[in-house]
Amino acid sequence: MSALLQSYVAGRWYAAPDEGTPLLDAATGEEVARVSSTGLDVAAMVAYAREVGGPAVRGLTFHERGGLLKALAKHLGVEKDHLYDLSARAGATRRDAMIDVDGGIGTLFSYASKATRELPNDTVVLDGPPEPLGKGGTFVGQHLFTSRPGVAVQINAFNFPVWGMLEKLAPAFLAGLPTIVKPASPTAYVAEALVRQIIESGLLPEGALQLVSGSAGTLLYELGPQDSVAFTGSAHTANVLRDHPSIATGGVRLTVEADSLNCSILGPDVTADDPELDLFVKGVVTEMTAKAGQKCTAIRRVLVPAGMADTVVGALRDRLAKVTVGDPTDPEVRMGPLASLAQRDEVRKAVEALRSTADVVFGDPDQVEVVGAEAERGAFLGPVLLQARPGATEPHDVEPFGPVSTVISYETLDDAVALAARGRGSLVGSIVTHDPDVARTLTLGLAPWHGRLLVLDRDDAGESTGHGSPLPVLVHGGPGRAGGGEELGGIRAVLHHMQRTALQASPDMLTAITGRWTTGGARRDDGTHPFRKSLADLRVGDTIASESRTVSREDIDRFSDLTGDTFYAHTDEVAAAANPLFGGIVAHGYLVVSLAAGLFVDPDPGPVLANFGVDNLRFLTPVKAGDDIAVTLTVKQITPRATADYGEVRWDAVVANGEGAPVATYDVLTLVAKSWDA
Ligand code: NAP
Repeated sequence: MSALLQSYVAGRWYAAPDEGTPLLDAATGEEVARVSSTGLDVAAMVAYAREVGGPAVRGLTFHERGGLLKALAKHLGVEKDHLYDLSARAGATRRDAMIDVDGGIGTLFSYASKATRELPNDTVVLDGPPEPLGKGGTFVGQHLFTSRPGVAVQINAFNFPVWGMLEKLAPAFLAGLPTIVKPASPTAYVAEALVRQIIESGLLPEGALQLVSGSAGTLLYELGPQDSVAFTGSAHTANVLRDHPSIATGGVRLTVEADSLNCSILGPDVTADDPELDLFVKGVVTEMTAKAGQKCTAIRRVLVPAGMADTVVGALRDRLAKVTVGDPTDPEVRMGPLASLAQRDEVRKAVEALRSTADVVFGDPDQVEVVGAEAERGAFLGPVLLQARPGATEPHDVEPFGPVSTVISYETLDDAVALAARGRGSLVGSIVTHDPDVARTLTLGLAPWHGRLLVLDRDDAGESTGHGSPLPVLVHGGPGRAGGGEELGGIRAVLHHMQRTALQASPDMLTAITGRWTTGGARRDDGTHPFRKSLADLRVGDTIASESRTVSREDIDRFSDLTGDTFYAHTDEVAAAANPLFGGIVAHGYLVVSLAAGLFVDPDPGPVLANFGVDNLRFLTPVKAGDDIAVTLTVKQITPRATADYGEVRWDAVVANGEGAPVATYDVLTLVAKSWDA
């Protein structure tokens, strides 16, 4: 008997006392492993996540969490061959496994880098600028995101055991949540191996990741209002979960990534001689055959102008005829088996249903020539292309989760949009056209029905990542039938796990709570220029109020000469006088900012290493020759970098004129040494 997969529970591996359910090799039918969660103490898992994992993760800053994800990604990169071998047993060719394994590791790298670049080195995220709520400036609002003291339960589908786990784990971990992952049973041996690699690496804090091998049992009953369930799988299971008491009435958040009848649309502008036709056909065949069509993002509906239907069907048949099916470890084989015999039976049933309103124009769901394996022992099924009859309904309703697509003709662009919408909401759609008007019309029609859209033509094809690849920086998820959930999309996915709260307080209270100086808050001038202070000494609120200086006409003329910016408002008295906003010559905004720098800098070598930009620059009041200006510079935010001996300091800069009116406001961004010996 093969080995029983174990669960990882409260810091130890747990083996169920029974024999478990056998999991079979997709190509040979041999037993790979057994799976059971009998006797699993799910209450202990949830308690351990809340009491041990959560506090440990939330004790780290976003940058520290990002650092651990990066280290984990590197570690898994070294260990990945074992995952490749196991993926082959689930029917994945090497290329299929790359999508899953390397795609998952790449997602970890992407989140690690986003965490350090886009999140503060803190445990709280500020959402937008402060909102003034009172005329006197003493009452201010600020949105902020905090970590929930809960558990992220992640229930995954069988088709991406590695990517599916890592793409959910990374944002949850960054958000400060411990994860309990429940992989799909048919490929649970790949997921168990991955969790073993993660646990054995020792990189994640204890309790940050636990594993359920086998059924979830009563896990969801243990959850409460600070917990969440992120589900990927069929619409049927999603509906079961939606009705679960913990979700229906218990306040547990549910995110659903369900099935999807994605379409690819060939634009009416594309002729048989255009490169877009080939791109379209290649895209469809790739999506039908990668992972043997077991991708939630695969193209199920191929929408073509009626006049091009025969051409497209002919080109698809030619290409599909070259697809070899067989042993996934054979490098000559393009497409492996489906993940299980049960899955193959499901797809056969789906094709049967599709046949009620569509005709098979390529392939046979009941027979396929197989290379390097015994066809009857494995879950082999060759590509099947159907062509919809007029008025067909099933192609818009039935998801064949395998290498199956249906060609559907459309007459007009409105017709194409209406057909796409009959999928009732999809993860992704693609539009293949070289006509910008077609692209805009279809995009505006399709976007409300889709989570992601690819517009493909000869210009972006070389670099395009293709129709079916969710990317860590782009949103994955779709409306309606696709589940209504949203994952990935960079830091958005992290924030989905956190609680946004509108905080109302005085500027000083906001400064103390958020760590970011708030306009109206106390400023500190202890007589030392803040540019003489390293990060060790610098404090939020440290301020320098400069001397004032007069801006002369000569300054304006010299700046025009030096920069070549001779825009009439700075040089032509008559034309400037006629300008309705200025009524005369005004100083260049950039001159004001440059003069302000001259007013606030401390020129000698010191801990301030560089200025790397300004944010939020606004010119508020024109400065005319003879006006005085002065600047107040205040430390707004200090972000030490975990991996460098310096950090970022954001300064609030307000340039005011002689009447005290602000003429320019902006944030100055600098790099400042952590320590400095004068
Ligand atoms: P599934 O049968 O719905 O199973 C998905 C997961 O739910 C599995 O881990 C399964 O565990 C678990 N599950 C089933 N019943 C449950 C319950 N009552 N309580 C808690 N968990 C439960 O889907 P699948 O066959 O694995 O995956 C294929 C489907 O997923 C397709 O329809 C495909 O379109 C969709 N999919 C969507 C996406 C996306 O991102 N939108 C990605 C991939 C796949 P067991 O395996 O142990 O039963």
